[in-house]
Amino acid sequence: MDLLPIFLDVKNEPCLVVGGGPIALRKLENLRRAGARVRLVSPALVPDLARLVAADATLTWFERRFQDEDLLDVRLAIAATDDRRVNRHIAALAKAAKVPVNVADQPEDCSFIMPSVIDRSPVVVAVSTGTASPVLARMIRARLESLVPAGYGRLATLCARYRDRVKERFERQRDRRRFWDRVLQGGVAERVFSGHLDEADAAMERELAAGGNPTDMGEVYLVGAGPGDPDLLTFRALRLMQQADVVVYDRLVAKPIIDMVRRDAEHIYVGKERNKHTMRQEEINALLARLAKEGHRVLRLKGGDPFIFGRGGEEIDTLAAEGVPFQVVPGITAANGCACYAGIPLTHRDCAQSVTFVTGHLKDGTINLNWPQLAQPNQTVVFYMGLVGLRVIVAQLLEHGVSPDMPVALVQQGTTHMQKVYAGTLGSIVARVEQDPPVPPTLIIVGEVVNLRDKLSWFSTIPDPEQGATTPLLPGD
Ligand code: SAH
Repeated sequence: MDLLPIFLDVKNEPCLVVGGGPIALRKLENLRRAGARVRLVSPALVPDLARLVAADATLTWFERRFQDEDLLDVRLAIAATDDRRVNRHIAALAKAAKVPVNVADQPEDCSFIMPSVIDRSPVVVAVSTGTASPVLARMIRARLESLVPAGYGRLATLCARYRDRVKERFERQRDRRRFWDRVLQGGVAERVFSGHLDEADAAMERELAAGGNPTDMGEVYLVGAGPGDPDLLTFRALRLMQQADVVVYDRLVAKPIIDMVRRDAEHIYVGKERNKHTMRQEEINALLARLAKEGHRVLRLKGGDPFIFGRGGEEIDTLAAEGVPFQVVPGITAANGCACYAGIPLTHRDCAQSVTFVTGHLKDGTINLNWPQLAQPNQTVVFYMGLVGLRVIVAQLLEHGVSPDMPVALVQQGTTHMQKVYAGTLGSIVARVEQDPPVPPTLIIVGEVVNLRDKLSWFSTIPDPEQGATTPLLPGD
């Protein structure tokens, strides 16, 4: 290790910043966030810095060039002028006076460096590559940003409040560590993240009372897994996928996403192919409640978004009625994923002022929708579950006055390496699909916006030799 990483308390301490440009501003902001009293020396300031000076009474600006006396009685110094010689002079003086000094872009003159910071106070993560590459440090920081949820600050504050009581409750360090492991990866933490601080306190009290035995109630995470491409998962989805004890999933969740769930989680497949429901909806609802009541962290993973044609509402209805804690994580719904990956904007100033998502599910040979409304011009209509009913959809739209030239796209297994777009018109799409039947799931997009695809299409699939060109990734429609 070239440098010693430490976190310095500069609250109310005088710190010197020399320079009035954007780098001085960035460094000064970190000092202010840590509560330092900053003395700023520079004959001129960039506007953002001038605004700060006007707004912050703890910040004193000396409108002149650096003088040696500026270093008297300061706790640390930052030289960020645009003159290398001045910076070097400040560094030499500071070192002689044993004042830690940082010089912008002159690593050889620094006695300390300022790391890239992820601030979830009181949790702070600092990343440094020494002086090798600040850009790399910033990239690493960006990656870590996604791993440290915004609520970790609040969680740490809660830990601080309970620290002494936990110490009293568990004498052995090993027991304490186990206790905190469970609290920080379980219901208490999740309640903090979802903003229920009172419930988090209550759960913490229950955990303390249980004295190391798991409390009886688990939790259900109803998580949208997006349309197929694992890159489209949310940070929150990924975090919950990696801490669940049990995962309950169905056909629409892509295999590469299932593979990202914690390895030792129990996997329960509940099917749901068309007309071949492996488990009835009521049974799934009851299963989720039972598993949570047994104390498990249950991940209910759904394709797309759980609240769009996903029956997510019904599942949590049962949980709410039975007093089981739950949280819902949105996912990218098929319409968004397929449209973007097919280069079809769902709205457009010129030809689509609205977009409607409907289900094209066929029941007894008909589809119960408001056809006169769906036949109106200047809109986009997206049909979920519409492949089997495609003929009926086309016939109804034509019958209600839509032109046979109206563009249609049928997106097969959107966002995956199996994505294929069948483009045509209301007049031609049925024949096209009959010639070369698509592999479900498929989404149907009707509207002038489909024409924009010729210009805007960007995603193309590369057949994966491992998977085989015809292996469906997302079977079932
Ligand atoms: N909750 C899901 C939708 C479930 S309904 C969501 O928000 O996306 C199932 C229908 O979604 C399928 O019949 C199909 O029309 C559509 N669908 C889901 N994933 C898809 C994909 N990757 N490509 C095309 N259509 C998809």
